[in-house]
Amino acid sequence: MKILMVSSEAVPFAKTGGLADMVSALSIGLAKLGHEIRIVIPRYYAVDRSSLEMLPGAMGVPVGYGCEEWSAVYTAKLPGSSKKNPITVYFIDHENFFGKDGIYGTPTEPDFLDNPRRFTFFCRAAFQLCRKIRWFPDVLHAHDWPAALAPVYLKFAERVKGSLGGFENTVSVLTIHNLGYQGIYYKDNFDYTGLGWDVFYNAGFEDWSMMNFLKAGMYSADKLNTVSPNYAEETKTQAHGFRLDGVLRYRSADYSGILNGIDTAVWNPQKDKLIPKSYSANDMSGKEAAKTALQHYFGLAEDPDLPIIGMVTRLTGQKGVGELFGPSYGCIWSICRDMKLQFVLLGSGEAWCEQEIMGLSSRLSNFRAQIGYSEDISHIIEAGADFFLMPSLYEPCGLNQMYSLAYGTLPIVRRTGGLTDTVENYDEGKGTGTGFLFDDLNPQSIYNTVGWAVWAWYNRREHIDAMRVRAMKHDFSWEKSAKKYVKMYEEASEKIL
Ligand code: ADP
Repeated sequence: MKILMVSSEAVPFAKTGGLADMVSALSIGLAKLGHEIRIVIPRYYAVDRSSLEMLPGAMGVPVGYGCEEWSAVYTAKLPGSSKKNPITVYFIDHENFFGKDGIYGTPTEPDFLDNPRRFTFFCRAAFQLCRKIRWFPDVLHAHDWPAALAPVYLKFAERVKGSLGGFENTVSVLTIHNLGYQGIYYKDNFDYTGLGWDVFYNAGFEDWSMMNFLKAGMYSADKLNTVSPNYAEETKTQAHGFRLDGVLRYRSADYSGILNGIDTAVWNPQKDKLIPKSYSANDMSGKEAAKTALQHYFGLAEDPDLPIIGMVTRLTGQKGVGELFGPSYGCIWSICRDMKLQFVLLGSGEAWCEQEIMGLSSRLSNFRAQIGYSEDISHIIEAGADFFLMPSLYEPCGLNQMYSLAYGTLPIVRRTGGLTDTVENYDEGKGTGTGFLFDDLNPQSIYNTVGWAVWAWYNRREHIDAMRVRAMKHDFSWEKSAKKYVKMYEEASEKIL
């Protein structure tokens, strides 16, 4: 099959979260199965043009009613894709829209004012790109709200009689990576789509007096999915549906959950060049070396007997940081003062949280944090820590708990979304499981569950060792997930035939 990924992020070019990892890794997984994959993303300011190749000629993109904007198109090969079946990444270059710092915004302007236009333009450009290169996909796979207009254009403009042609046999799939981000904007932005106002209502853009990008994509895509089976079920309920649970129930025949894999070329303790010594379930000496390196890096006592709790996270409410670090509310003080452990964190995000965390490092001798983004340190934490904490409010899939399992670092997680699908709870009686789960998101539950893990560390080391081996044997490779995507593409194709 010919598959076009339409996404606002793809590693290594542009990343704010798991979406970027998933788009590139899934593409590589699908290419390995023999499919022809191409990716289109915007050419943000941070993507250096000199490392890309430019396609000759500018590309006109229709916008609004009868207007046109111009774009250049650059290309590059996706690193990690094979020579035999390489994956081409196309970059839509529009100086006004994408030539600024930031993918969706900057710290001073977190959501660019022109985001509805930026991503409307981007989705429209994806179709023009196919015309320009005379390559029409069988499947158009859109990701999250910034690409959600692609299925809408396909259904209401490109696959209909009287269109310019080329997409008659194309089907669309929309993957929801995080239902919390829907792209809701004033409906004055709708004219810029160039779609008639009948489509505003028929495609489900309407969201009270606003327009909702994701919702329109959810109504229009031939198939929908999210990134874990459990999150797919949760999002059909009012508690987790972010007001769109009704749409998901309405589309439930076409809606499923497919667990993300992890990039095992990058996240693999046997091959990882970012840790001092590689290791496997049969020889864990490399994990001990990583632990020492982690303690050394953060200036902690280099004691192998003290359990280390690690975190690598965006510092935002979704990740449970309020319950951990909220002033006079969070449990981090009690955890670090009451328990014999060390705590290390790498993260960036909300300003209050960054400030709170920076203050803690100087006041708690066993707590250390680095504010910022660092691939290198995230690998050292995954390998060197003994436990990995993710007290998420919701988690569509979650990658870090899978990285942790692969590195024999036992996750302590809230029972939600993909965390439920990937971490098996510890059973004290049998010594089974791969991590520690809790239900309620409050400081007391986090405190108790960290305490439970620390208790097992000091009193049931044989269980911890067995859990590590079990965790490391788990197969989270993309191969399995890529096959499920192929099945979904086939089902989507059958629907329109
Ligand atoms: P989300 O996409 O909601 O942030 P995921 O667990 O699905 O959560 O993916 C997060 C990804 O971003 C992981 O690859 C994680 O390692 C990475 N990440 C998050 N914060 C940082 C950071 N400060 N430094 C390095 N990597 C980070």
